[in-house]
Parts: sequence; structure tokens; C-alpha cells
Amino acid sequence: MASTQSFWPVPQREGAADLWVCMSCLSEVYYRKVPMPDCPGCHGVSTYEAFTLEAVRDWGSDELIAKAVAAQAAGAGESAAAPVSS
Ligand SMILES: [Zn+2]
Repeated sequence: MASTQSFWPVPQREGAADLWVCMSCLSEVYYRKVPMPDCPGCHGVSTYEAFTLEAVRDWGSDELIAKAVAAQAAGAGESAAAPVSS
């Protein structure tokens, strides 16, 4: 059986936080998207809230911070890889 995680993409708003953290288990974080239909860690529904990386660094565990940094780096890499029109 396929166990690939699906996501809802979250449109980025100007100046808004773009790291989505599960407030139930505090161990899952994604960049500009949230897992569907529920959290893969605790199976909570609608438990995700948006935070900036600075906020996550402020209160997150070392593991969560590391995940947040990796997620943001991966997301930024995808954006950078997009064709740039000049
Ligand atoms: Zn969770």
C-alpha cells in the first residue's frame, strides 16, 4: 500500500508566517503546506498553526527547530529552482 503523505498547499501571504506546526504533538512542521487528511505524527485534524522560524526557535524543541530549518531550506530551494523571467 502506498503511504505517500499528501499535502494541502498553503498560499503564501505577504509578511505572514509560513512554517506550519502541529500544535497537538509539536513534532511536525512543514513549509507553506499542511499534511492531509491529518497530522502524520498524532493524527490530529486541523491542529496546524503558522509560525515564523524565529518563533519556532523561541519555543520549539531542538528536533522541531531542526525540522523547521530543513523544511524552510527545502522550500526556499524549490522557489529558487523556478525559472526567473527577466
Ligand atoms: Zn501532530
